[in-house]
Amino acid sequence: MLTGAGVSPGVGHGPVRGIAGAVPEPPEGDRHDGDAAAALATANAALEAVAADLEERGERSAAAGNTEGRDVLNAQALMARDPGLAEGAAERIAKGTAPARAVFEAFAVYREMLAGAGEYLAARVTDLDDIRDRAVARLLGLPVPGVPESDVPFVLVARDLAPADTAVLDPAQVVAFVTEEGGPTSHTAILARTMGVPAVVALPGATGLADGTMVLVDGAAGTVRVDPSDAEVAEAREAADARASALADATGPGATKDGHAVPLLANIGGPKDLDAALANGAEGVGLYRTEFLFLDRSTPPDDAEQEDAYRRVLAAFPEGRVVVRALDAGADKPLAFLPPPGEEPNPALGERGLRMLRRHEDVLTAQLTTLARAASGQSAKLQVMAPMVTDAEEAAYFAAACRAAGIEHPGVMIEVPAAALRARDLTPEIEFFSLGTNDLTQYTCAADRQIGGLARLQDPWQPAVLDLVALAADAGVPCGVCGEAAGDPALACVLVGLGVTSLSMSAPSLPLVRAALAHHTLAECRTAALAAREARSATEARDAARATLPALAELGL
Ligand code: PEP
Ligand code: MG
Repeated sequence: MLTGAGVSPGVGHGPVRGIAGAVPEPPEGDRHDGDAAAALATANAALEAVAADLEERGERSAAAGNTEGRDVLNAQALMARDPGLAEGAAERIAKGTAPARAVFEAFAVYREMLAGAGEYLAARVTDLDDIRDRAVARLLGLPVPGVPESDVPFVLVARDLAPADTAVLDPAQVVAFVTEEGGPTSHTAILARTMGVPAVVALPGATGLADGTMVLVDGAAGTVRVDPSDAEVAEAREAADARASALADATGPGATKDGHAVPLLANIGGPKDLDAALANGAEGVGLYRTEFLFLDRSTPPDDAEQEDAYRRVLAAFPEGRVVVRALDAGADKPLAFLPPPGEEPNPALGERGLRMLRRHEDVLTAQLTTLARAASGQSAKLQVMAPMVTDAEEAAYFAAACRAAGIEHPGVMIEVPAAALRARDLTPEIEFFSLGTNDLTQYTCAADRQIGGLARLQDPWQPAVLDLVALAADAGVPCGVCGEAAGDPALACVLVGLGVTSLSMSAPSLPLVRAALAHHTLAECRTAALAAREARSATEARDAARATLPALAELGL
């Protein structure tokens, strides 16, 4: 039995499929055996096989509802079939170069051209490298990199998953995620919760699990059992089902036992997440991560496409509330069309969030104007917030940009300790706060959320984080939480006790939090909050709060 951090509840059982590692460069000077015609045929067949495979994956991802994924893959297939590329490889093979090396060198020519052709095209280099690696892997007889192919549903094992890696994942194929890196607030964890896929992160030795090994993943307990017996699988499934049915009983808008309303909202990455949000009873959207719409793109999305993606979400919540976040690019969510100004030794402390948008004001203005247009004629209330705001000047800047674009309800995320400490300074121009506890924890504890080994410090139960939440919640404007902390049933009660006014989370967490609140009064939540803040460590805070919230254990939460 291996233990990591459980970040998305549920039980998954299946064979391990790993994401293959890097493809090595074929050695310079590698020669074929003299049969140039055969070598050429091998190279061409590999390129064609890569193109066909990409197209087929595209069709499958479209069939699973991800048409953006298909567009990306079709564009890649076109690159693999580029006649110039095949010609470059043929010329080298004619001179005796081995097929893998010839293909590698032919790609290198294109790579250099793209890399030097300005920022938008430079971003295509990653796509090109991916195609090259696929072709070279085939020619060298190595596993093809990227998300694996499988005829049966599988447990995806990786060192870490970048948001862009997962664009083409078919949720029906992946029964669980297991990663070696990634903390509880990493985007791997968030994605798993959004997809409703059980997940364990920060599992030492995960990538050592051989392909095909059968494993049982318990995303609530954070465990991975190798070669489980049938009885163990059945028992784990029964426990997960029992908990799910206990939770199905809590319905309706979010409120404490004594009727204190706490709107329960969904975190989404695009219209594709609406079904799950509605099915889990979301009262609106508390965080629309708009950058998730464009992670694969090298050019800014056009206005019509953006407007459609916003309008569909607003239309799903008539009379409800939709909080859209302006593009949060940078650090672990690089957007090719919003490049940082140069090398950043610490990207999480660099140009990201609102800092990045201020460098690309045209993109911010276009997004805000498009949002205002999408909201016209809709009954949902559109609120727009800025990510990574540090001080009053930035809050005022964003509020002014919103109003100039016709957005009436601007807000800011509280993710930086400075913003929480001086929350009152930020209130004059804006209407609401939304606490991004993932980043707030990262910055409060100085612990990069992508590093699995720092999970202890990436814990929003850290009393220092709770103190900052209390400060922000007391600043005089409505203050929601949209970080992953909101989806932890016990912590959700504590947050309400600290004065938080709404909670937004990945859709599958909504029933858990709804049930936890429904079983406790506001006074009990306040007692839990006090107990947690009196603790001296995250573990003590969690234990102390849970001790005052006994119904959680009865509900299996
Ligand atoms: C957060 O930081 O808590 C947040 C909600 O934003 P993201 O996870 O997208 O950085
Ligand atoms: Mg954040």
